[in-house]
Amino acid sequence: MGIKPTAQTSCVGLSAPPDLDQAGVDVFWMEKALLLAAQAEANNEVPVGALIVYEGKCIAAACNAPISLNDPTAHAEIRALRAAGHYLNNYRLPDTTLYVTLEPCSMCAGAMVHARIARVAFASHDPRTGACGSVYNLLQSEQLNHRCQIDYGFCADKSTQLLKDFFRRRRMKPAALDS
Ligand SMILES: [Zn+2]
Repeated sequence: MGIKPTAQTSCVGLSAPPDLDQAGVDVFWMEKALLLAAQAEANNEVPVGALIVYEGKCIAAACNAPISLNDPTAHAEIRALRAAGHYLNNYRLPDTTLYVTLEPCSMCAGAMVHARIARVAFASHDPRTGACGSVYNLLQSEQLNHRCQIDYGFCADKSTQLLKDFFRRRRMKPAALDS
């Protein structure tokens, strides 16, 4: 609804306009992540998109793809973490911000702790499996050796609507996707 995937959903190499304040920057990147989510939806995947920003520039971007890749770990965040690690030639990703359209699950949140991501910004909460405050908060656990700053709510309505529309359509034709 209102978000069309385009041929230019990849935003790797982009920087946010310099005149934006932090809130504007967060919305700018989340809107890019929403384009990636729409790309996932176009591939019949749950619409989630993620990107990673380092020194003001997007260094990795990915859409959710577990079904098409036959890979249960191919969530948007994991794919973006892998791409960012390659880009920085480092298995740690300090001083980065990861933007994602839906609150990360426990697998992705765990990987973000391993990667030492500084800040995670997500659009809408996932009350069923969210591991960044909703069900668990792995990003800020006293038991783990790294904690990420968490910010949320940017473009939340757009993300929620994208997911609602997707699941409504999927309920209408479940055989096409679940067989
Ligand atoms: Zn995940």
